[in-house]
Amino acid sequence: MKRVLVTGGAGYVGSHACLKLAEAGYMPITYDNLSTGHREFVRFGPFEEGDVRDRQRLAEVMNCYRPEAVMHFAAQADVAASMRNPEETLGINLGGTACVADMAAECGADAFILSSTCAVYGNSGSGGALTEETSIAPESPYGESKYMAECVLAAQESKTGMRTARLRYFNAAGADPEGRIGESHYPETHLIPLALKTAQGRRGPLKIFGTDYDTPDGTAIRDYVHVLDLADAHIAALEHLWAGGQSLVANLGTGQGTSVREIIQTCHEVTGERILALASERRRGDPAALYADASRAFDVLNWKPRHELIDMIAHAWAWHNTHEAQILRETRSAAE
Ligand code: UDP
Repeated sequence: MKRVLVTGGAGYVGSHACLKLAEAGYMPITYDNLSTGHREFVRFGPFEEGDVRDRQRLAEVMNCYRPEAVMHFAAQADVAASMRNPEETLGINLGGTACVADMAAECGADAFILSSTCAVYGNSGSGGALTEETSIAPESPYGESKYMAECVLAAQESKTGMRTARLRYFNAAGADPEGRIGESHYPETHLIPLALKTAQGRRGPLKIFGTDYDTPDGTAIRDYVHVLDLADAHIAALEHLWAGGQSLVANLGTGQGTSVREIIQTCHEVTGERILALASERRRGDPAALYADASRAFDVLNWKPRHELIDMIAHAWAWHNTHEAQILRETRSAAE
């Protein structure tokens, strides 16, 4: 059984990647410091606690499992937090990536998959679908740090020949339909989980950040992609590299733009609940419209997202109605 070290495997996208790795017959080894991840999400392989900046601990874990590949999800992914504390974001996202990539090359892993983001494009794509050639113009230290992490991997490849896939996600959404894992952040900042919590009556009205964008209904447009489709793309990238394919940078999205108001309407249709939403100021650093041209992932990886928006919201709703409150209670009490 081939072994894959998954940093951030206790987090949202990382845990779904572990699920898919296990389903595909690989052994995911989660390496996570549990700063934002959940121990309960590690269900598909062994768990090793550790920080991505801790070279010694990484060496210990890599020498123990000798993974054939690394998927690197562990990151500081909160844009607002990156604005408040850019040094910390750079330390984790850039320093952490450099450290994990060095150790991966040293222990002979021959494929490295990086979780990157469409935030590397900033506002430069507001005119249409974003391709991988769209200018890099991050609006936040988070986006900058992820682009720099991509560059670190390119440098690692020149130095050691380790092949890499740098996957730029659009908006991950949804959950495992079997309800084993899902999305649970503390504090939560993402649109779909917040709308669903409002539907459940667990919080007050939703704020719509900006109603005066130059979009058909005035609210911002994003490309929502099911977290299990993202996980599938990671397996496809891994197998592409293992089969001798070249390194690549690829956008992962559906190509379909959806506005904030359309998300609220779909959440209403799925839940049957009224979702009170109030117009509010734009959020700093939020572009008007971001949606992917993901044709490279379709062409090179033969990857196509399978889930519609309605599935993403239905799966997220099922998760929110079963385990999410429990996971959140545990995270909160650990933090307090
Ligand atoms: N958004 C909103 N109200 C909220 C949270 C988000 O209007 O309470 C908007 C946000 O401004 C963006 C979209 O919803 O246009 C998606 O935001 P999210 O934080 O989910 O993801 P992002 O695109 O920032 O990664």
